[in-house]
Amino acid sequence: MKIGCPKEIKNHEYRVGLTPAAVKAYCEAGHEVYMQKDAGAGSGIADAEYVSAGARVLPTAEEVWKSCEMIVKVKEPLPVEYDLLQRDQLVYTYFHFAADERLTRACLEKGIIALAYETVQEADGSLPLLKPMSEIAGRMAPLMGAFYMGRIHGGRGLLPTGVPGVKPGNVLILGGGTVGRNAAHVAAGLGARVTILDINLDTLGRLSDIMPPNVATVFSDSHTIDFHIEDADIVIGAVLVPGAKAPKLITRETLKLLKPGCVFVDVAIDQGGCSVTSRPTTHAEPIYVLENIVHYCVANMPGAYARTSTFALNNRTIKYGLKLAGETLEKACARNLALKRGLNLYKGAITFQPVAEAFGLEK
Ligand code: NAD
Repeated sequence: MKIGCPKEIKNHEYRVGLTPAAVKAYCEAGHEVYMQKDAGAGSGIADAEYVSAGARVLPTAEEVWKSCEMIVKVKEPLPVEYDLLQRDQLVYTYFHFAADERLTRACLEKGIIALAYETVQEADGSLPLLKPMSEIAGRMAPLMGAFYMGRIHGGRGLLPTGVPGVKPGNVLILGGGTVGRNAAHVAAGLGARVTILDINLDTLGRLSDIMPPNVATVFSDSHTIDFHIEDADIVIGAVLVPGAKAPKLITRETLKLLKPGCVFVDVAIDQGGCSVTSRPTTHAEPIYVLENIVHYCVANMPGAYARTSTFALNNRTIKYGLKLAGETLEKACARNLALKRGLNLYKGAITFQPVAEAFGLEK
């Protein structure tokens, strides 16, 4: 199979869909790999490294999209890429369709096969291709919160670590999955007092076994959120209902309970965000202030730490990518239910219920 990897073009997106090791693995399995020139530059990977691994380098994105049956990317296609999508082409990347009706309709119209990283799901409910980016975004979240807590950024001017004689900050984390767990580790390591809310008691049980003493776990409902948010300095949105829009846990009234200058890092923004006040931002303009709260809602947080993210992502995507490329899609999905759950669109039809539900369309 001809496999192509175009350069990412989202604002300040420096990750790349394939590492040289992944290229080598595809080539050893008998595939041909085409990299767009400079695709890996943002992650510190030179074209020569791809060539040594067996890839051919093409000068433009058009040539990569038009000559390959399978495209491996990181982010969803952007509007300027819609015309490059080829009918029946297998596109293996993050899509987050439920948060983007225009993208969904464009991909349906183009008749692509959309295999979405974020909904590839193993039988135990785990999301192996979301996990590495959630680990990175989760670890970044308290750091971003701490940074924008600076008075110069509109924050309260409170250093979450505290200092001898001054209390540390309170970090409230909504959702105790991969993002929440990683955020809690870093926030706790900084010395903050951390509270994780989740609706899954088993998750809370596992967290309370492994977390340090400055992390508390609490069952989540709207009453509990209102209670804990009053004391919070940094709030981290880390909830997920796989493939669906994020539940809106924070209303304007809830937000008003926060102290002015608190920072809200909505990591769940890629699924629409968990506050009614969340809207996606970019690395170029990461924050806005609304209701006196600093909102950080960057939809591609790991892009900032592109090198770590590219390698962490490829460590996971290669296993499923080889299965996808190795036989017909029908056989690969029949043999591997995790991959079948990743199939969101198939040649003009929606094949993943939460995406259909998000826009009132037929599955
Ligand atoms: P996860 O499935 O591991 O964890 C989600 C947690 O949310 C689960 O424990 C679940 O029980 C909990 N939850 C669901 N509904 C809830 C509710 N109503 N109240 C409280 N808890 C609730 O997911 P994850 O990997 O941690 O990802 C979280 C979000 O972060 C996803 O939307 C993911 O796409 C996003 N993400 C964003 C970026 C970014 O750059 N912005 C990067 C990586 C991941």
